[in-house]
Amino acid sequence: MLRLENIKIYTDLTDDEVVKEACKQYKLDSKDVRKYNIYKKSIDARNKENIFYNYTIDIEYVGLKNIKNIKIVNEENFNLIIDKKRKAETRPVIVGAGPAGLFCGLILVQNGIRPIIIEQGKKVEDRKKDVENFLETGILNTTSNVQFGEGGAGTFSDGKLTTNSKNPLCRKILKEFVSFGAPNQIMYTNKPHIGTDNLINIISNMRNYITSQGGTFLFEEKVVDFEIECNKIKSVLTNKNKKIETDTVILAIGHSARDTIEKLYFKGINMEKKSFSVGVRIEHKQEMINNSQYGNKTKLKLPPAEYKLAYHGKDRSCYTFCMCPGGVVIGSSSNNSEIVTNGMSKFARDEENANSALLVDVTPEDFEGDSPLEGIYFQADLERKAFELGGNNYYAPIQRVEDFLNNRKTTRNWKNKTHI
Ligand SMILES: Cc1cc2nc3c(=O)[nH]c(=O)nc-3n(C[C@H](O)[C@H](O)[C@H](O)COP(=O)(O)OP(=O)(O)OC[C@H]3O[C@@H](n4cnc5c(N)ncnc54)[C@H](O)[C@@H]3O)c2cc1C
Repeated sequence: MLRLENIKIYTDLTDDEVVKEACKQYKLDSKDVRKYNIYKKSIDARNKENIFYNYTIDIEYVGLKNIKNIKIVNEENFNLIIDKKRKAETRPVIVGAGPAGLFCGLILVQNGIRPIIIEQGKKVEDRKKDVENFLETGILNTTSNVQFGEGGAGTFSDGKLTTNSKNPLCRKILKEFVSFGAPNQIMYTNKPHIGTDNLINIISNMRNYITSQGGTFLFEEKVVDFEIECNKIKSVLTNKNKKIETDTVILAIGHSARDTIEKLYFKGINMEKKSFSVGVRIEHKQEMINNSQYGNKTKLKLPPAEYKLAYHGKDRSCYTFCMCPGGVVIGSSSNNSEIVTNGMSKFARDEENANSALLVDVTPEDFEGDSPLEGIYFQADLERKAFELGGNNYYAPIQRVEDFLNNRKTTRNWKNKTHI
């Protein structure tokens, strides 16, 4: 494949038209393109008077003339081979069916290994009902909610596939998502995004595939203990009094399963304190972000704009994260009497508001006590205080930015659910 880079496109074109334009820019004959693959597409909005798309396209080209100075790349191989020399008598157990657990399960079955995946929450279709019920009634199911259940914590978020990693396996993740029903554009857009509406089907397709290849899912079943002998895992025990013997356990439990993390700590698993970030969701009109990022001159049909802001102070940094264009803020608690919020959007990202997390970093010096679990206690304490401030009913406490800047309270009119 020939890689055509830095293709500047100033109007909205179909993919075929973009390839023709790319060939023109590289002085190639588009009739000689046997197949193509859009590798990258980004928006360059640095000059608001002249916003354009920047494409990288791989083409299979039959006319081999005039290809000087064009990079040649191999077609990507998305297989991940596991060395199976180890002789296993038992099936590996994966605890948790979030992205980590599901992809682990997928790669194992692709290598002929049949894992047992144990998830405390429900199948994604049933979990969706519990989430909707919580958002409508405030009745929380502590094992089936925005954080727990098949698909994990990202399912009811923006479905943005965020990572700072340059690992080539990131492209495998995208490819697998596409094969289970995600829009193909996630393969090449700068900030790929699936949307909660698509994720539900994709996760269910993924489960069906893993099951068809010999994997087993146990839903609504929680791993509550681990039998360890001479530093080796022997079995896991579930809350349904099941003992599953295994010599391999993959803990894909995410960062919110505080009880399981505590259990592992008291079992003697090595842990250490680490820094993390805490903060609030900030919400504003999407139109304001579009104007600020794109101006008002462009005729391009651009997606809802995003932003990222950072401030590096002397002692602490403050930054935005997980910006959710055209989305809503939703309650994402998994524990009783604690508030967690998150941004969620559908694939279209067509809601009126945008939101993002506004965070500060906290370090072990901010926590009292010596236990490696102090960070979790610190987090839980903040979430409990937010619950109380919101009125003890899973409504998040809200403050207008204007009030925050003027150091005054925002008063709330509960009856109309408006803020005055
Ligand atoms: C509120 C929130 C919003 C987020 N929004 C985004 C976003 O928009 N984009 C993004 O890229 N990332 C987002 N993230 C981060 C992203 O969701 C996580 O990085 C990702 O879900 C981590 O995947 P995981 O599989 O490691 O863990 P998780 O997704 O947390 O999955 C762990 C699973 O393990 C299960 N489990 C835990 N303990 C047990 C047990 N003992 N027995 C059985 N099952 C158990 C849980 O029920 C859960 O389903 C968000 C995270 C949170 C908490």
